[in-house]
Amino acid sequence: MAGVSREALDSWVLALKNWLLPIYCKRCGDRLLTEENGFFCASCWAGAPWIEPPLCDRCGRPHFEMVGLGYAPEYYPCADCRERPSPYLDRVFASAVYDEVASDAVKLLKFGRRVKLAAVMGSAMAGTLRRDSAGLRPDAIVPVPLYRTRYRERGFNQSALLAETVAAECGFGPPDMTGLARIRPTRAQSGIRDPRERRDNVRGAFAVADDRFRGKAVLLVDDVMTTGGTLEECARVLKRAGRAAAVYAVVFARTVKGIKDQ
Ligand SMILES: [Zn+2]
Ligand SMILES: [Zn+2]
Repeated sequence: MAGVSREALDSWVLALKNWLLPIYCKRCGDRLLTEENGFFCASCWAGAPWIEPPLCDRCGRPHFEMVGLGYAPEYYPCADCRERPSPYLDRVFASAVYDEVASDAVKLLKFGRRVKLAAVMGSAMAGTLRRDSAGLRPDAIVPVPLYRTRYRERGFNQSALLAETVAAECGFGPPDMTGLARIRPTRAQSGIRDPRERRDNVRGAFAVADDRFRGKAVLLVDDVMTTGGTLEECARVLKRAGRAAAVYAVVFARTVKGIKDQ
């Protein structure tokens, strides 16, 4: 193709692709013309229930009410975390409330197998860490593992995909995929109402492979935190059996009601 610039050819190919293979926003149905996100239009994605400060600097829950009339800090613990701070999980960073387009994204990734979404979601998580973590540099970044039959069924671990993007964008080393394992299957925590049953469901479900986390700061990665029980149990195992010095977690989305009181 003499006389045609590379750029002209690229834009022609893109236009042809857009014409032959139109893509639409999975939320509002609007036509998407660029491949920037590929799943949601810019206005739907910007309109996600992103968590912004002021927020709890333990569990990552946003503070919805304004406190007092004067100066209010951006990061301070919520009432639950003041009363009953988690003994194992030092801090949770969460990008969005698990609702609207944020829950659409999680479901598309996990059940719709749109694995490319992990890069978009992981990027949001990296942004949350950069904003809220005051330069946290974990020694290890560990995705919450799936039980092996679940992994075979799904073909991928969404948390591992998210961890890869977070690690790459934050300049951490590659995620540790073998240090923590799920040694027995569990039911979905969100489907269990009784707190004791929920604790029993995940109790003893995880194990560390060796002493690689001894004295280390570990950053757990998961797609969603609903009750917090799974992350709590992972953190318990990392600290009790693995002798980790600190355990943090970053999730794409979290529910904001009934974290500890359900
Ligand atoms: Zn849209
Ligand atoms: Zn809190």
